[in-house]
Amino acid sequence: MKTAFEMYREEFQDIEYCCYCLEPKGDKYHCCKENHFVPFQDLETSEQMDIINEEIQWAEIAAKQEEKRNGR
Ligand SMILES: [Zn+2]
Repeated sequence: MKTAFEMYREEFQDIEYCCYCLEPKGDKYHCCKENHFVPFQDLETSEQMDIINEEIQWAEIAAKQEEKRNGR
């Protein structure tokens, strides 16, 4: 069985991130006044973990909000 980290890492591998602030590139052409993006798979493992931890926190917040909306 894969860990959450491995699942996220596979899902994000082709997403490009700003190498300065680690924001996803999205529709932007540049970030931090530079056009310097790196694919997730080329980031340091520690940077990958930071992004994934943040992503997991957002997922938990979204799940809690969804629970509230359902009145539970
Ligand atoms: Zn940036």
